[in-house]
Amino acid sequence: MAVFECAGCGAALTVPVAEVALPPHAHREGGDRYLPPLLEPGTFAVDPEPSEPPWRPWSAISPAQAAARGVYAPVDGLWSGPGGAVLLAPGDTRGTALIAEQCDGCCACAGGPNLACERCGRTVGARIDDCYRWQAVWLYPRAVRRAPVEGPARPDGDGWTVSPTPPVEPGGWWSDRWSAAVGEALAEVLAASGGAPVAVAPGLLAEIFGRTLHRLLPVGAPVRTLGLAGPGFTPAPVPDIALVPRHPWTGAAWQPPFGGVVPVPLDAAVWTHLAFPPLRPTTRLPAGEERDDPLPLRPRLLFEPDRRLLRHRLARLPAVRQPWLRAIYDRLGDRHHHRAASEGTP
Ligand SMILES: [Zn+2]
Repeated sequence: MAVFECAGCGAALTVPVAEVALPPHAHREGGDRYLPPLLEPGTFAVDPEPSEPPWRPWSAISPAQAAARGVYAPVDGLWSGPGGAVLLAPGDTRGTALIAEQCDGCCACAGGPNLACERCGRTVGARIDDCYRWQAVWLYPRAVRRAPVEGPARPDGDGWTVSPTPPVEPGGWWSDRWSAAVGEALAEVLAASGGAPVAVAPGLLAEIFGRTLHRLLPVGAPVRTLGLAGPGFTPAPVPDIALVPRHPWTGAAWQPPFGGVVPVPLDAAVWTHLAFPPLRPTTRLPAGEERDDPLPLRPRLLFEPDRRLLRHRLARLPAVRQPWLRAIYDRLGDRHHHRAASEGTP
């Protein structure tokens, strides 16, 4: 376990926390009205990608410099400072104070430099508790240092058993976490498709992956299949592209023990719901009283993967240098395409 300390005065800024993988919705922007903390209490995640100034526009970055940063298609620009920002659940911070004049969000703090060390006053991070944002604290890499402390680094078990996240929120809208997770995984599914149509089994998988794949890939007879594989779930037949769970602690993709499949990692909580959907109740209310039986949740809108996260991930796949995938990347960034897609036209 670790405690994060102020790099200026050494004051402890967190309780002891254990490291987990950065979740796919860590950088999701815009979601449902009120969102819970991004991370479970007692955990932290590190974002290796630079997030500190200076900001360099794309025009000032050579293709070789971008490739050295793991970026293979044009983006608006890149932060060029250090990476390693630390994400925490807000309740796990200690000895910090809000900088009120920096809390300039719509309802509260939008995530600017608004968190100071209470002891020395140094700016150490950002608190996010605005509407449509996940509750979070980010500690800046240059402002804190990590100190190891005694304690179990991990909970019991191997980490693969996770609680499933349902795709639809109790309010009747699609889960924000699903939009982010599917957006990120879609980038690798597209790369694995080779630019040819992909068959997706009907049902939830087709609803969340199939529609976007159909929209972005050529029309025709499917060449490859998309399915699931993971611990306790052996597909038959084995799909060409298998969505596998991403380990919640390490972020590593589950490795299939069989060959002939391209594994694509997916948020383990989303994967678990897809692989082991909860059983529907078999008992019904008596005839005439069905009106009291809760109806299954059906969102008003079709599922939309997070396009910004899809494009972010695509830009970081070497495969995007192939012309067919680069064309899809460019289409996803085209505003006219974006508007047509959101209006439901192909
Ligand atoms: Zn301090």
